[in-house]
Amino acid sequence: MSTDPDAPSVDGTEPIATDPAASDPAATDPAATDAAGAEPATAQPAATGDAQRRLTVLAGPTAVGKGTVSAAVRRLYPQVWLSVSATTRAPRPGEVDGVHYHFVDDAEFDRMVAAGELLEWAVVHRRARYGTPRGPVQQALEEGRAALLEIDLQGARQVRRSMPEAHFVFLAPPSWDELVRRLVGRGTETAEERERRLATARAELAAEPEFDVTIVNDDVGRATAELVRQMGLPV
Ligand code: 5GP
Repeated sequence: MSTDPDAPSVDGTEPIATDPAASDPAATDPAATDAAGAEPATAQPAATGDAQRRLTVLAGPTAVGKGTVSAAVRRLYPQVWLSVSATTRAPRPGEVDGVHYHFVDDAEFDRMVAAGELLEWAVVHRRARYGTPRGPVQQALEEGRAALLEIDLQGARQVRRSMPEAHFVFLAPPSWDELVRRLVGRGTETAEERERRLATARAELAAEPEFDVTIVNDDVGRATAELVRQMGLPV
């Protein structure tokens, strides 16, 4: 990514590879990244190409503002369907089960994985598991709705494999220093957790060229407008 706040957003020229072994170390070496090595079951029929095109996958490093930008899109366009992930991490103060996440224990997450209920899943920040329930995504796309997934890099790579027609958007910070400032400013993580997240962020930033497009989150309003444009929503 660019560290120059004035630099324009860069369109990736290289799509996220569809060969897991070539692109995703987690697919062959679970210890190499934060992501789980195990693959989600993908035997279920994926949405057709047309439906897939209505799906936007928003990824980017921790604290870059993915949640803020996707919530802003939802406020402006309530018709956009925003996926609610399952996670094994504990809720933060103010987070509501079923709204921000489906908070589940390890046994329930294991069950969802075994039953093939997750479109993708990953261990994020070497700590908790996060995954996208498959059924609601399929349903939203079948209903003809624009759908948005806000997930980590490993999850984005998995979705690229099963739904290659989806649109993959990378949200980048204006600079590394700004990313660190936002993470510290958020104040929701311990120092140890922050370090872990920054280590993941470094690796995630390097993956920017795998995405169809990059949006620099230098201003939430501007980044939101750009995401709206990328999603093809009426302006
Ligand atoms: P947080 O714990 O701050 O809510 O989220 C940590 C990270 O997990 C973020 O980078 C977020 O994008 C990612 N994440 C949230 N939901 C999912 C999901 O369903 N799948 C994957 N792969 N990552 C997710």
